[in-house]
Amino acid sequence: MSNANTGDSTERPFDLLITNAQLLDTEGLSVLAIRNGQIESLDARDSAPAAQRIDARGGLVSPAFADAHFHLDKVLSRGFFGALSYQEAFAHARDVKTQFTVADVEDRACEALELAVAQGTGALRAQIDVDFATGLVSLEGVLRARERFTGSVDVQPVAFPQEGIVTDPKAPDLLREAFNMGAEVIGGLPEFEKTEEDQDTHIRTIFDIAEEFDVPIDIHADYTDLERFKTLEKTADVTIERGLQGRVVAGHCNALAVYPDDEAARVIDKLAKAEIQVTVLPIANLQMLGSEKRTPHNRGSSRILELLDAGINVCAGADNMFDIWYRFNAMDPVFTGLMACLSGGMRTDEDVREAFNMVTTRASRLMGRYDGPIAAGAPADMVIHEAANIPDVFRLLPGRRIHIKNGRVVGGINASTWTSRSQD
Ligand SMILES: [Zn+2]
Repeated sequence: MSNANTGDSTERPFDLLITNAQLLDTEGLSVLAIRNGQIESLDARDSAPAAQRIDARGGLVSPAFADAHFHLDKVLSRGFFGALSYQEAFAHARDVKTQFTVADVEDRACEALELAVAQGTGALRAQIDVDFATGLVSLEGVLRARERFTGSVDVQPVAFPQEGIVTDPKAPDLLREAFNMGAEVIGGLPEFEKTEEDQDTHIRTIFDIAEEFDVPIDIHADYTDLERFKTLEKTADVTIERGLQGRVVAGHCNALAVYPDDEAARVIDKLAKAEIQVTVLPIANLQMLGSEKRTPHNRGSSRILELLDAGINVCAGADNMFDIWYRFNAMDPVFTGLMACLSGGMRTDEDVREAFNMVTTRASRLMGRYDGPIAAGAPADMVIHEAANIPDVFRLLPGRRIHIKNGRVVGGINASTWTSRSQD
């Protein structure tokens, strides 16, 4: 107990004081004092002066959520397709994209970001189509939406050639323009190309442009869960060849789940050598994939546990929301973490903790952000949960939540339930 500051009227007030906070890996409750967007102390006095106070009531205070992979330009675009079947919708995907306008993309992206912020997502890596169909319209729309949420969520735009590189010769120049407009990461989709040779050209062109603009790479690798897809391994080979270790992320990686074990082990070893980070997207992939069977027998995910065992940073993202790739989603990062946990067969206490890390600290690391625990000196980006521990955060989803970014309350959830019991 300090007696130095008690009752001192000249004591400078904190911006925010969070009392009765349960921190991870910490016995007892903490009092977090926040000033100028930073956590100054974890053991402030309950009575310390502060402009704003929040009683966490013993709830968990965790690092804020980060979404490692989300298609922000396509959200809520399912309505454009009307009552088409899946096959018809995909056949019309490009035509529909030509109807996107900057204002329409901006509006839809804003709806998604509103949901994301309310539920505690403070950073989001946005995949944005840059191709002959949408040109730079989708990127412009997302950049405008990002502007409107400055201070509430940090959006990291990925320029994504959804229609290929060899199959869409306009893509390379459009990608270059995207970096002049403000894109920060280059995406890729090699399996979209028709031949292995074209896949190779696709990957190498992406790496060329990445080196030209000195930007990191976030490539869709082996989205489809069929053994014949090998673009993940190819991406690792080119990463090592170019000396770009630590600069590359691979998303989806569903084929890895169905490779024979020895082949999977070889690819995972290569990923570790290439320091590639992996994002799994089980929400959309659970619905979309399953080895072309009437009843799917895969889990819409990758080999999460083996990848983690190899020391690879594995993250999860919400991927899509009400577009042709995925019908549902409300962008709840807790749901994303839970789906990663379930689809990856993550069963132990340690696994469950890792599933939570995949949508918090691990995803922050992927985006090059602070990825440590709640600590003095850390940025004041956090979520106050109603539940006191991670299993209960997952179990009692959505739960009551308060999202704090840069020391400021920016959103939250007030979940409520009601019950009628027998009156006897
Ligand atoms: Zn994707």
